[in-house]
Amino acid sequence: NADLLLAVDHAVKGVPSEGIIPCRTLSNAEGFCRYFVHPVAQENCLTGLLILFVDITEQLKAQKIREEFSANVSHELKTPLTSISGFAEMLSQGMVKNQKEVAEFSGMIYKEAQRLLHLIDDIIRLSCIEEGKNQAEEAADLYVLAKQAVEHLTPLAKQENIDISLSGGPSPIVGNITQLYELVFNLCENAVKYNVPHGKVQIETLPLENSSVRLTVSDTGIGIPKEHQERIFERFYRVDKSRSKQTGGTGLGLSIVKHIAEQHHGSISLSSAPGRGTTITVLFSGRRQQ
Ligand code: ADP
Repeated sequence: NADLLLAVDHAVKGVPSEGIIPCRTLSNAEGFCRYFVHPVAQENCLTGLLILFVDITEQLKAQKIREEFSANVSHELKTPLTSISGFAEMLSQGMVKNQKEVAEFSGMIYKEAQRLLHLIDDIIRLSCIEEGKNQAEEAADLYVLAKQAVEHLTPLAKQENIDISLSGGPSPIVGNITQLYELVFNLCENAVKYNVPHGKVQIETLPLENSSVRLTVSDTGIGIPKEHQERIFERFYRVDKSRSKQTGGTGLGLSIVKHIAEQHHGSISLSSAPGRGTTITVLFSGRRQQ
């Protein structure tokens, strides 16, 4: 590497330097490392060079995610605020004359404000989960949590004649009840939201061997094209932005699910086909209450 050779040349002349170069990581993946090249001298005579390499691949990745997140947050917050401010300005300047339009505009302000609140809630929740706050663990039952989620989602499902069923049985697990409920609810809500009229949602919770517990949420909805499947767990990533917004989505639901699963030693797998539906499985290893 030309930069590194130059740094060595400088160090031989007594000038230390550092920089970043592309490299292969210990696991042989493409990455980046920071190098430090220092002359080692004894009685003003150069006796050697000290060259230190530090793998900073993960650090750079985390920094990129943080930067992208900040840019996305600003954009996502600005969009509803721009609408709110525009509608409010029209109302305040008397540009909306009849009562019907006043009601319509106020309704839009209310809807956008709700979206903003929902978004801020999700952002705060995501950062709390990441920081490991409110992490008290207790005995829970995934089946009971799934049952509660079904009860909450039944009115939404009824609007589109979607049938929700729950099978399996008591699935004791140790974890944070609020977070586990959120994980179950988000997956079930998506299965309803991204479904088709008269579609089906099947939820199953099962205790398995090795103290593991499995949650499966399947739907007969619109499905997810292959090229989007890996990315839907990223913050703010949506396959169809307009559909997500129409259903009040923030694009953070699956990112929250992923973080909660990680905190509970859970692994997520997804299988989906456009027009056929989606199945998401979360396997919690070794989390069963004894
Ligand atoms: P959102 O708030 O947009 O629902 P999520 O993070 O929960 O955000 O999901 C990200 C995207 O993944 C959604 O916008 C949608 O495009 C896609 N998605 C999630 N669950 C499903 C599903 N069950 N069926 C089809 N698409 C889904």
